Amino acid sequence: MSSQTLIGQATIDPQSSYVQSSTFDQDAFDQVVMSTYARFPLALERGEGCRVWDTQGREYLDFVAGIATCTLGHAHPALVAAVTRQIQKLHHVSNLYYIPEQGELAKWIVQHSCAERVFFCNSGAEANEAAIKLARKYAHTVLEIDQPIILTAHASFHGRTLATITATGQPKYQKNFDPLVPGFHYVPYNDISAVETAIGELDEGDYRVAAILLEPLQGEGGVRPGEIAYFQKLRQICDETGILLIFDEVQVGMGRSGKLWGYEHLGVEPDIFTSAKGLGGGIPIGAMMCKSFCDVFQPGEHASTFGGNPFACAAALTVCNTLEQENLLQNVEARGEQLRVGLQAIAAKYPQHITEVRGWGLIDGIELAAQTQFTAADVVKAAMEKGLLLVPAGPKVIRFVPPLIVTEAEVDTALQAVDQALAIVTTS
Ligand SMILES: *Cc1c(COP(=O)(O)O)cnc(C)c1O
Repeated sequence: MSSQTLIGQATIDPQSSYVQSSTFDQDAFDQVVMSTYARFPLALERGEGCRVWDTQGREYLDFVAGIATCTLGHAHPALVAAVTRQIQKLHHVSNLYYIPEQGELAKWIVQHSCAERVFFCNSGAEANEAAIKLARKYAHTVLEIDQPIILTAHASFHGRTLATITATGQPKYQKNFDPLVPGFHYVPYNDISAVETAIGELDEGDYRVAAILLEPLQGEGGVRPGEIAYFQKLRQICDETGILLIFDEVQVGMGRSGKLWGYEHLGVEPDIFTSAKGLGGGIPIGAMMCKSFCDVFQPGEHASTFGGNPFACAAALTVCNTLEQENLLQNVEARGEQLRVGLQAIAAKYPQHITEVRGWGLIDGIELAAQTQFTAADVVKAAMEKGLLLVPAGPKVIRFVPPLIVTEAEVDTALQAVDQALAIVTTS
């Protein structure tokens, strides 16, 4: 094995600086990398804007963006320049010392959200883990609850660590990983009476609801937007009871919804919220934000070795600044509208197969009817053959999460490919 290379002989195109059309050995890969993912038979090696190329040199329009992550697309000149500059200067030092880039990024987030304090980590799960720990410490030390309970929603997704799979209200992610972390209770999403009932029932003995953790729009659970009346009532309940309202903005935050944060669609502010996917534009970084009243961590109580290192923060700061400089929120609204109108027109051609088109900004989904013979993954495969990358959100929802820089022409091209993909799966 050691004498073999997975990426075969590469050819250098003298006209450009990139390597192209190398070969890729899938079997050799599968022998050494754990099979935790059901991968599509595709290996990508280069990207530019909203386009990516595979190892055969075939081009695809990327409406996955590393799963709602590559905010600025691929090889954005500002991001390339920022990370190049930063790695030449200083890339990692640990949080034993002050990291100026981290302060700059935190300042931007605080100035552009309801947050007053920021903690940096490396992923969405870690950001949620930090939020869960903060809420529990707040429950013990401020609310004086011995057995704090965190309410989360059915069909939610909060990550893959033990605490975050427990927070995730989907049994398929928990199966065979028990014993799970105690202290979570699930309610249906967008159902206020279920929350009121749960708070009443759980308020017994040493147990009490300390926090409610929700996505403003459920991403992995099927691109399901939160309802304004539900969230406003939740905010009111939390204000009256002292229960913390925590939003998982890992997928919907950082401009993807057409507003910087998903909660802006709901007219309520959380006490704590998390970000990750789009924050670094594809460079790993996560963040947990809170109002100062619940900032109860003391030195040594929570930490991350890599968290908020100069490299990741320089990348994220560039994403933030570029969002503003390129007016990307406006683009997200306009392109999102174009995408949904186009998808609705396509859906109208397949009334037995498509039940709904929904989403905010550039996080949109097509829901397939329960009785259709094909799955979202079948549509994704057919679209891939037509040169468009898409990702399912559950078995029956096809998700659209392109880079926020996507152009009008690219949305049109994607719509044509979706139409062709649906024509294939509905007739085969
Ligand atoms: C992706 C996602 C996570 C987990 O993020 P990782 O970076 O994979 O740990 C958590 N919450 C939501 C809403 C997500 O979409």
